[in-house]
Amino acid sequence: MQRARRVVLGLGSNLGDRAGNLALAVTHLGAERGIVVLARSPIYVTPPAGGPPQGDYLNAAALLSTALPAREILTRTLAIEHALGRVRPDPVRWGPRTIDLDLLWIEGEVIDEPGLTVPHPRLGERAFALRPLLDVAPDAVDPRTGERFADLPAARAPLVRAGGT
Ligand code: ADP
Ligand code: MG
Repeated sequence: MQRARRVVLGLGSNLGDRAGNLALAVTHLGAERGIVVLARSPIYVTPPAGGPPQGDYLNAAALLSTALPAREILTRTLAIEHALGRVRPDPVRWGPRTIDLDLLWIEGEVIDEPGLTVPHPRLGERAFALRPLLDVAPDAVDPRTGERFADLPAARAPLVRAGGT
């Protein structure tokens, strides 16, 4: 059994009660055996990146402490997506979804397997993933490069907080 380490999940929703979906996802995560939710980021309003025309997303991140293997974390997040009404396979690639849970970062771990890449392959260029990650793990380092995520250009891209706060 490996030791608990920090894990950051990215949360997104652009369908239905978006803020409610994010809150419910965090509730489900906290109810999982072997997962402790340490923190959640503010919520940001972000335009869809790619895919068909669709409504804006709410994005946030959750900081977890868990000893679960990466593959098991992914299995559980996919189950939570399903419980919240996410339909897979997606009817439209990169189309609107009630909930999207991405395994963004696992402290000190690099994973390259079919269906699972960690750090998330598009983390470094997506402000809507990077900024919430930095809110909950400001010191996070890319285990592939040793570079601090805070030093990436996308970390400074402007992002709108939900509720204008
Ligand atoms: P995206 O999140 O990029 O919009 P999807 O949510 O549709 O795309 O994810 C598609 C697939 O990506 C998932 O079925 C999963 O197997 C795979 N995947 C690979 N790496 C990860 C990761 N780090 N976190 C979440 N899913 C991942
Ligand atoms: Mg996803």
